[in-house]
Amino acid sequence: MDTIYRLEIPVPFAVETVNVFLIKGDTLTLVDTGTNTAEARLALQAGLGELGYRLSDIETVIITHHHVDHSGLLNDFSETTAIIGHPRNEPWISQNPDFLACYEQFFQDIVPQFGIPEVIAKYGPPMKRTLAYASKRSLSAAVQEGDRLDFLPEFTVIETPGHASTHIALFREQDGLMIGGDALLGHISSNPLLEPPYFGETERKKPLLEYNDTLRRLGEMPISRILPGHGSDVTQVSELVAERLKKQKARAQKVLNMLKEKPMTAFEICIQLFPTLYTKQFALTLSETVGQLDFLKYNQQILLDTSVAEWMYYAK
Ligand SMILES: [Zn+2]
Repeated sequence: MDTIYRLEIPVPFAVETVNVFLIKGDTLTLVDTGTNTAEARLALQAGLGELGYRLSDIETVIITHHHVDHSGLLNDFSETTAIIGHPRNEPWISQNPDFLACYEQFFQDIVPQFGIPEVIAKYGPPMKRTLAYASKRSLSAAVQEGDRLDFLPEFTVIETPGHASTHIALFREQDGLMIGGDALLGHISSNPLLEPPYFGETERKKPLLEYNDTLRRLGEMPISRILPGHGSDVTQVSELVAERLKKQKARAQKVLNMLKEKPMTAFEICIQLFPTLYTKQFALTLSETVGQLDFLKYNQQILLDTSVAEWMYYAK
């Protein structure tokens, strides 16, 4: 079987480090990269060096999703290195200007809709701020659900959307090993993040609903071990999935109880759910809040009035 090495790379975010994996089979493949920062670059070079390799030896880089802690160092690889990921990564990692404009517009639209005050909105779309740690690179090839790669015949691509709509994992049926990116982390729950609609789409995705589907699927798969994007390996997958789903339901119930008191905007719920965290982690906490609202709405437990500038959520 292919040999897999884990390299832990420092990143300038609350998670502190990201795991990238070197797969040594017939060719050398790296899964994820770290951020476009000097610390991450040095750590990646040093980690590869200890194994006897240089960056230029990597023939293929697979990204589990577009977030900059996973794709930020793509520019460090030569033109001949193949960059592989889900097709939805392309506008993010290439920083497609039309897509960035859509993202900007999406943010401008949700500011009033979710009742976000100007004092917070003035910092601009959160993704813009992470561009400092990003690369600008295109995919060489795209992979989707069920695909196998010639140079990695042991693995199958599994689409695992939710944390990001671009998210994939690599699954090795032979022994149940999964290289999981941020699909399921052991020490923290993986936030489903809001994303703008893609080209040709009119509505945004419902990331929490997609993430729950991904979790349920992982819980039913014969996975022996997940090598995650952050933290230690995950082995008790179905137990952890059950725990995550239970916690999410409890949080949705909390939101429903708030709405039974009085109708609120998404932002009002956000600050009540995360009274201190929302100032520091606005994108995460707002995404989490809107996720719970999408969940309650999907389950027909709440109503949403969009006839007013600041959308109001009501308990049924
Ligand atoms: Zn991550």
